[in-house]
This record gives sequence, C-alpha cells and structure tokens, in this order.
Amino acid sequence: MSINPASTNQALFERAQVSIPGGVNSPVRAFRAVGGTPRFIARAEGAYLWDAEGRRYVDYIGSWGPMILGHGHPAVLDAVQQAVREGLSFGAPTEREIELAETIIRLVPSVQQVRLVSSGTEAAMSAIRLARGATGRAKLIKFEGCYHGHADALLVKAGSGLATFGHPTSAGVPPEVVQHTLVLEYNNVAQLEQAFAEHGSELACVILEPIAGNMNFVRASLPFVQRLRELCTQHGALLVFDEVMTGFRVALGGAQSLYARALPGFAPDITVFGKVIGGGMPLAAFGASRDIMKQLAPLGPVYQAGTLSGNPVATACGLATLRQIAQPGFYEALSAKTRQLTEGLLAAARDAGMPMVGDCEGGMFGFFFPPSAGDSLPQHYAAVMATDKERFNRFFHGMLDRGVYLAPALYEAGFVSAAHSDEDIAATLQAASEALR
Ligand SMILES: *Cc1c(COP(=O)(O)O)cnc(C)c1O
Repeated sequence: MSINPASTNQALFERAQVSIPGGVNSPVRAFRAVGGTPRFIARAEGAYLWDAEGRRYVDYIGSWGPMILGHGHPAVLDAVQQAVREGLSFGAPTEREIELAETIIRLVPSVQQVRLVSSGTEAAMSAIRLARGATGRAKLIKFEGCYHGHADALLVKAGSGLATFGHPTSAGVPPEVVQHTLVLEYNNVAQLEQAFAEHGSELACVILEPIAGNMNFVRASLPFVQRLRELCTQHGALLVFDEVMTGFRVALGGAQSLYARALPGFAPDITVFGKVIGGGMPLAAFGASRDIMKQLAPLGPVYQAGTLSGNPVATACGLATLRQIAQPGFYEALSAKTRQLTEGLLAAARDAGMPMVGDCEGGMFGFFFPPSAGDSLPQHYAAVMATDKERFNRFFHGMLDRGVYLAPALYEAGFVSAAHSDEDIAATLQAASEALR
C-alpha cells in the first residue's frame, strides 16, 4: 500500500505541532506517557478506527467513553442528520431538551431536574458552584486521582499533611483559588472521618468518581461510600457523584444504582453527567433534587449559562444513544463482553507468567501490572502509581502494533462498546498473548 508521505501519522504530528500546542487539543492524545507517535484518525465505524495511513485498530477508548454503541450507529446517525437539517443552534429552548432531561430523570431516580451544558468540565464546575450556593459554604473535599475536568478549584493535589488544603496541579491556578479544596486519599475512611471532624460545618460538598476511571479503574468500596453518605448527611454537606464516565456506562442507572442495590435508599445529592449522554457530541449535564436545582438562575441566586447548552444536534445524538442503551438486555450483553475481555486478559497474563490484576463493570474495564505477584487491585492513587509503568507502556505498544488501540496511559480506564464482536474480543486476546510474551 502506498501512503502519501504528507499524511503519515508522523508527518501529521510534525505539522500539527506547528499550529497546535503539542500537536493535540487534549494532552493525553499526544502519547507523552507511552512515547511514540499518536495515530491521526481518519474515520471510524463500529468497533474500529482507521488511522491516516489506512491501518485499522480495534478501539477500546471509544472517544474516552461516549461511544457506547460503537461508531456510526445507524439510529444515531439518522437522528443527527435529521437534527442538522432542522437547524444547528437556536439559543432558545427546544422540545428535545425536555425529552433528554425527562429521559435522564427516568433512568436516575436521585435526579429530579437537570441542567444541560456542553462538557464534563463545565458540568462539574457548575455542580460545585451549586453545592456552594445551596449550602452557603465554601470548602469541598475531592480525592487524589479523581478527575473532574479542569475547572480551577478542582486542579489540586494533596498538601503535605493529612487534612491540609491542597496545592494547584497547574500553573495559572493561584493557591488562593484552591485554598478551600481538601484532597484526601480515595477509599480511606479514617482520613474522611478526620476531615469531617475538623471541617464538617464548613464543607459544601464532597465530590468523587464512584468508580474512578481517571486512575485506571478503582472502585469506591461500599464501606467508604456508606460512611461518606452518613458523614455528608450528618454535617449538612452535599454528596456529589461525578458520573461523567460511569453514568450510563457501568449500568443504565450509573454507578449510583450499583451502590443503591447494596445500600438500600442510597442516593447522592448531585450527579454530574457527560460522555455517554452526548453519544459523541459535546453534551453534559448536572442534576439533583428540585429543592437543590431551584437555587440555579433564573429561579435562584446561583448563576450558570451557556450559548450552546442543550444544543439541538447534540441532544438529538444523546437521545438516540440513550434510546438504544435503554433497551432490555443491553447492559447484560455489554457486561458479558467486557468481562470476557477482562478475564481473557488476566488469563493471557497468567499464561505468560506475568502478574496482572483487573476489574470491570458494565462497559468499563481496567488492568494493572502490579509491582509484585500476589498484589491485589489498587485501592487509591498512590497504589495505582506504584504499578509497573514500563511494562504497561511496552504492552500498550505491543497491542497498538497488533491493531488494538488501548488508552495511551496506565491511569486511564478502557471501554467496550456494543459493536465489539466476539471475534474482536478473541483477536484482542490473541494479540495480548503475543504482546505479553
Ligand atoms: C471526562 C471527565 C470529566 C471532564 O469531562 P470533559 O467533557 O472532558 O470536560 C469530568 N469528570 C470525569 C469523571 C470524567 O471522566
């Protein structure tokens, strides 16, 4: 096959770096963590991506989560094409926004009202402002390794001691902006109790990823979530579930439905959505009880707005996606496929004599190369960072060379879509057996 020298991945990457910082519009795409040249994607269909050189890959990133149906699902494309013909944006309310809001509310019982926005960052930032406005308090708790987008107050890492306030993780964020953000260790009940004992009456909210997908795949333990709920209720702080990744991905009702199954009556106070609800278009949302949501403008004093919020094409895409995934049996089939992949990877590693641990839920999975054989799944960020990065990077490139596109960093989750066939999974496991050897 002859490839135009100007459209190889390498040539495009060099050209991109002239006009775009680092050649990418979101840093992880640059392959800095794993090294090598990012693939420039020309098109996608079903479970596959094709790069600029015409090479095909089985896609386990799915645009970092949204593409739960795979690429180019006919019902989604039809809905988007129809919406495009009706108009790209009006800056005025539409019936489709109501339909999408009603659909989210029907599927997630903790949510009585939602506000639509355009990115997960915007949704999480607005949820924090809402929590602060609703409680009249300033402080918040986040957990190390959880990502909630790049709003200033959330770009923060742990301070030097327990229950000290955090330091910015980005230049351009003044320390004063994160002085109200406490950063704790994920799954650490003792730290949580201490933080509430010291700051409980000043805490507006606690925000977490209920299954943390931005440190690969780490579940919040049941006792941790249970204690978190008790402490928030007891101290009048709001519990914010950031389900941008897990919402409509790990189960139809999100991760909160899994916790509610184990802890009857369990519900977060505010939920943040994104990724799957847009089906691949820029769309996100945050929702809560009517009582909390009435604090938002134009009803209440918490300001929040957006020119493209509830965009008619994005809502058409999201609605068409949610219609498909709400069909009976969808998550059973998706979970079975994801389990088959995860268990297959672990078996391939065992056969190759290489320590590996992994976990999955719904259409989301993660695997780690632990520092020593016999180690169990990491429970927090420091444990994730102690896993074998060199081994992961070699495995990543081994898989990429064999046409399997995994997330290019060990701290990212993987995603399976409804378009992945048994043959795709089998081919992936065959590639893994070779790469692990
Ligand atoms: C992706 C993600 C975000 C940010 O969403 P963007 O649309 O990229 O701004 C926030 N929270 C979580 C849990 C995410 O996975």
